[in-house]
Amino acid sequence: MPSDLGTEQRPLRVAVVGSGPSGFYAAEALCKSDVHVKIDMFDRLPAPFGLVRYGVAPDHQKIKNVIRVYEKTAARDEVSFYGNVGVGEDISVADMRKYYDAILFTVGAASDRRLGIDGEDLPGSYTATEFVAWYNGHPDYRDRRFDLSQEVAVIIGQGNVAMDVSRILCKSVDELSKTDIARHALEALAESRIKEVHMIGRRGPAQAAFTPVEIREFGELESCVPVFANPDDLSLSPASQAELEDPRNAPKKKNYEILRGFRDLDSGSAARKFYIHFFQSPTALLSDGGDRVARLELERNELTGDPGKQKAQGTGGKSVMPCGILFRSVGYRGLPIEGVPFHEQWGVFPNEGGRIQDDGQTATGLYTAGWIKRGPSGVIGTNKPDAEETVGNLLADIGSLVPCSQPDSAAMEADLSSRNIRYIRFEDWKKIDAAEVANGEAVGKIREKFVSVDEMLAAVS
Ligand code: NAP
Repeated sequence: MPSDLGTEQRPLRVAVVGSGPSGFYAAEALCKSDVHVKIDMFDRLPAPFGLVRYGVAPDHQKIKNVIRVYEKTAARDEVSFYGNVGVGEDISVADMRKYYDAILFTVGAASDRRLGIDGEDLPGSYTATEFVAWYNGHPDYRDRRFDLSQEVAVIIGQGNVAMDVSRILCKSVDELSKTDIARHALEALAESRIKEVHMIGRRGPAQAAFTPVEIREFGELESCVPVFANPDDLSLSPASQAELEDPRNAPKKKNYEILRGFRDLDSGSAARKFYIHFFQSPTALLSDGGDRVARLELERNELTGDPGKQKAQGTGGKSVMPCGILFRSVGYRGLPIEGVPFHEQWGVFPNEGGRIQDDGQTATGLYTAGWIKRGPSGVIGTNKPDAEETVGNLLADIGSLVPCSQPDSAAMEADLSSRNIRYIRFEDWKKIDAAEVANGEAVGKIREKFVSVDEMLAAVS
């Protein structure tokens, strides 16, 4: 019997799990379709916006303006927000299926790729993820401690996350104090004794993963100047030269021009120096007999392969440098949710165009978008077409979805309440939001984030 899903009498019921950019773009695409929909959006934290709130650097406020677009989506009649609900933790995916015809996972990538080298887990070696979440006031990371009493910090990787971590370490407290950086981070950074920040890339200046806006900022910092660990690394091989001539690599060419400009900067009196290393791979973290990281062993690389596909190849030439604190920033990795197929090696939900696959078969009613769909790549806007692709496929499948047994959000709410889950609606979040802004105003910041779930819940009541 054909179902009436998507009609006025029986709107298509979709649970969007994760309220970051992909979740909001997916909800927006569903609302704009000509199908009648009811979307309930879930987040395990009381606060929405995912990576925009807990990933984007506090000194990059303009990027956060995209929240205004998400707020419009949240205000639509078809959309309801349920924060402080962990799907797969507080309520199982199987139980959620009672209330929704389709579940669309947009949970991002909350963990990190590993380097796989000796000493990786020595005290003093941290992941970029935990540092980023800590300075952004993520409740799960508020109690982390980072030893900023060291003078030499090392960041492995040259993506934009490595840039964020480096910049937060390089900036003066004055440069950060008016932002929405967590208070505990600002206080710790005020005591920082870091003088050198070293960013290590395994390939060359033509391949670095950061983007021009991000690298340019390092030439404009108040009390920190960029320096090249080995200025000769700026000389390009014919293959790298050819890469930069490719019009598709215009941003990389811009990066290269900006880097060359850094050679003229005077670093003599700078309180901090930002050392840029190319063609180096970490091979071991050494404790020197102590109980924490003390030095980093590196291997010199050369590039092999055709232009556009050049890979780092170790030359066997090793060197060792002092390293008081280290951050691994070599890419994020998704985490599994019970009841959803997971690709261990890739750290994503296996899918075809957002349709989650279970042992090569489409898992009826389960969809995904964003980093947990395609891996941790691209900027915030990349998630819009990505979410639209998934939603297009979900809507194309409408005839083969299994209608849920209780198409009723009130029943879902009663279920959550019976489990003592105190869910947060969008109007509750607006109270938290207003309180954070007011608390920020009182201390000259644009926002003072609540850094615990209890504080957020208290602000609602
Ligand atoms: P990313 O851009 O993929 O960069 C990862 C870095 O780690 C690359 O430099 C990579 O080098 C290096 N790497 C990987 N494995 C390594 C290993 N085994 N040893 C040494 N180096 C290794 O990842 P990300 O920085 O985590 O950023 C994730 C996404 O978020 C990116 O698309 C990024 O642009 C975006 N983002 C954007 C902003 C912004 O727009 N402001 C801010 C933050 C993040 P290779 O190039 O050689 O692989």
